[in-house]
Amino acid sequence: MMGTHHAVSGAAAWLAVTSTAPWALGLHPMSTRDQLVGAVLAAGAAILPDADHHNGTIAHSGGVVTKVAARTVEAASGGHRHGLHSLLAIIGFYLGATYLGTWWATVPVLGYIPAGSTLLWLALIGFTLKVLKLSKGGVIKLWVTAALATLPVLYFFPDLFEILPTVVVVGVITHLVGDFLTVGGLPLLWPWIPKPPKGLDYVPIVRSIWQQNGYVALPILGKTGSMREMALFAVLSLYTLVALADTIARAVGAPLPIPGIGA
Ligand SMILES: [Zn+2]
Repeated sequence: MMGTHHAVSGAAAWLAVTSTAPWALGLHPMSTRDQLVGAVLAAGAAILPDADHHNGTIAHSGGVVTKVAARTVEAASGGHRHGLHSLLAIIGFYLGATYLGTWWATVPVLGYIPAGSTLLWLALIGFTLKVLKLSKGGVIKLWVTAALATLPVLYFFPDLFEILPTVVVVGVITHLVGDFLTVGGLPLLWPWIPKPPKGLDYVPIVRSIWQQNGYVALPILGKTGSMREMALFAVLSLYTLVALADTIARAVGAPLPIPGIGA
């Protein structure tokens, strides 16, 4: 699945999970503020597994630094769509985000701050700006914009940092679901990638679900970037826009009259 599509699906999933409106699932209800801000962060979190791609959005988001970082992650995780695209990765990303939340440090000018959460917040905002092409211009402008969106949180709403581990988990799971729906599939049980038994790998439907290389998929979207993926992207974009608008409308006591769902 393409980066932009991952990002929009991440925001859509976040709104569906954290809202209790009729159009949502309400699995993990949050305040209006956390729903709206989290949606922006979840878009960036939904491209995190592709940090293992040397030519992906994350690799291109910070010049040489992120290029080298992505190459390193790619090599360390066994390649693109290996370790970072597994069930273990969901746990790893969650533990990583939680651990970052415990790291405080004295930073020149800023003082003693939650350095790990600040960095993670900065990174997710930067990835959202980059993947949704919201920041025109170079890398410096991108990260200055991300920093300007991070500093007010650090000084005025530091409790917002508490949503970061949940944002990361929702983003990463949404990413994996997206890739699972394309023909490439995923090594879900990585580092154990069991291959289908002989004979079974020739049965047409089975071989596209449990592939010869051991990857699993439910390839209803076809190849990455297919027309079906574009159609899903259009639906998710509309869902996200309506959900954002209705979340704001509900906060001021005037829910949108959505056809088929009502107010
Ligand atoms: Zn991916």
